[in-house]
Order: sequence, then C-alpha cells, then structure tokens
Amino acid sequence: MPPAFKSSSSAPLLRVENLSLGFKANGKVTPVTEGVTFEVRPGEVFGLVGESGCGKTVTCLGLLRLLPKVGSAVLSGQAMFEGKDLLHMSDEDLRSVRGAEIAMIFQEPSAAMNPLLPIRSQLLMPFKHHPYNGDPEVRVTKLLRRVGFADPELVLKSYPHELSGGMLQRVMIAHALLLHPKLLLADEPTTALDVTVQAQILELLAEMQRESGLSVVLITHNLNLVAQYASRVAVMYAGRVVEEAPVADFLDNAKHPYSQGLLEALPRLDEAAHVPKPIPGSVPSADKYPSGCRFRDRCPYAFDRCTVVPQWTEISPGHRVACHLFPHPSPSPLPSPSVAMEREGGKGVR
Ligand code: SF4
Repeated sequence: MPPAFKSSSSAPLLRVENLSLGFKANGKVTPVTEGVTFEVRPGEVFGLVGESGCGKTVTCLGLLRLLPKVGSAVLSGQAMFEGKDLLHMSDEDLRSVRGAEIAMIFQEPSAAMNPLLPIRSQLLMPFKHHPYNGDPEVRVTKLLRRVGFADPELVLKSYPHELSGGMLQRVMIAHALLLHPKLLLADEPTTALDVTVQAQILELLAEMQRESGLSVVLITHNLNLVAQYASRVAVMYAGRVVEEAPVADFLDNAKHPYSQGLLEALPRLDEAAHVPKPIPGSVPSADKYPSGCRFRDRCPYAFDRCTVVPQWTEISPGHRVACHLFPHPSPSPLPSPSVAMEREGGKGVR
C-alpha cells in the first residue's frame, strides 16, 4: 500500500507568481518559462508534470537561483517562501535557505556530486554551513540506513564513481533530507531506483511529512507516481503552466488537450481494451515556441483563436485551465476537434 501522505489546506508555504525565466546570448534573451504561477501548502505533495523540456527542472533551479549568473539567466516574478522573496533576497540570505529550509534532489546525482571527495565529506559538509542540534555522524548514518543502505560505513568511505546510479540517487536523497528542510524540490527522485527501494524512499518522505510537515514538489513525467502520492498537480507545457487541479479531479476530468494527451499515453492495466496513444510531435525548443498557445502545433483542437495566448479559466474550485476551449466560467465538455473548428470557422494548424 502506498504511504499515507496527508493533505493540507492551510496558507501556502511557497507561492510562485509570474515566474519568467530566460537565457541571454548575443544580446538576445530567449524566454524559457513564462508566467509560471503555483503554490505549495505546508505538508503537501505537489506534482509538477510534463514531458522532458517543458521547464519543470529549470523552474525549480530558478527558485533556488542555481542557474548560470551574470549575462546568462534572466529571472523575473516572485517566489514567496515564508514571507521572503527567494528571487530578490541577498545571496547570503539565500545560502541560509538552501539546504536547510529548501532542499533539492537533483535529477543527475552523478553530475551533482563532487567526484574528488568521498561521500562522507559531502554528506557532512552541510553541517559546517548551517546550525544543527545533534551529532551529524549519527544523522548521516541513520539517513543512509533509511534510504536502504545496509552498510552505511562502506558508502561513506566510497567516492561517487564507486557507486551505481541508483546508489548515488539514494545518497542524494539522504543529502537533501539531512537538515530537516521544510520544502523538498524532488526532481525525478526515484527514476533510477527499483520499485522496492522506490517504495522505501516514498515511505521515508511520508514519514518526514507526518513528523515535521515536510512539503514536497514532486517533479516528474510519471503520472502514476503523482496519482499515488500527490494531492494537487500542475501540468507544464513549453514553459507555461497549462492546467492545475486536485489530483483526483485531474485524473477523472483533465480539461487541457495536452493533459488529456498525457493521460491517454499511459498504459492502463484496468482497461484491457485501452491502447496508449502517444502525443504526436515533440515539445518545441525555447527559440521555436509558436505564438499564442504553445501547444497549438500538436493540438487536435487548435482553431483560429489559438494564435492568441489563452487566459486562465476556473473550472471548479482549485481546478484551472489555460485553453481557448474554456473561455467561460461554466464550460461545456470538451468538443470534438471538428466541432471546435466549425465553431470558430477555423481549421487545425497541423
Ligand atoms: Fe491550445 Fe487551442 Fe489546443 Fe486549447 S484548443 S490547447 S488553446 S491549441
């Protein structure tokens, strides 16, 4: 049985508002994400989903300002964490937040770890920079056991190249949890792990949530993981959030054609007749985003109005979508592509 994560409805721990991010080269800024807005409440698991290249990882790196500095990454918007704006606080203040209050599990553990230092030095390093009440060695050893290492001492003596990808991922998870953060940005945290270790890791996160109210942003393209563990979900496409909803509502009643495509692409064991359908095409690169709705080159419902950026419509409490098929507060069910095209006198863009 999946671990019981509690849900929460209190004031947000993190409120991201209109986060836009771009990269500057040759005097020109290429926008990568635009107007990203979402919130994470205390003690909840919030899913951030979408195909590779949709902007999920870069959004979280942007929140912690872990992107290339001067002359390259350009950030705007607001990210309020416990009343402090992460995007505008001083470097020194941000350093005290990183690792201690907000931690991140990086997608590429082998790239995130220092190849020249043994694991012990790397796991003890955060304690040198942040106050901690307790014995760091005890904490490190306990967490290594919790992420599935029967012999923590052997791991502590090792260098990163001596561990497998799955072992490094578990070390990185332990590293992120060392200082009891309030918020964990978990970027594909269990991708390299087998299912039993995956369950163990998720049980550990659930336990930390129950004990200390840990909130998790679960960045993944695995909707099954979101279905099991998250309470709310936001879908990103080509640098924008296109739908946000409570997870149960999203699974039963996804509205955005991209969200529906993601769900249609899932294999289903409960429906023998279901044939997974891939979404045609791929996410455009940031310098080739189409104008208006960025999904329009792949959307079977695209019509004339889709050349304009769609605004948000609230479908039901907590469920919002940015798509021209839902321009009214009480939208009708999603029409078939031909109906949508007829209604606008348009034709699909494909
Ligand atoms: Fe975008 Fe238009 Fe398709 Fe909606 S119908 S997803 S606005 S292209």
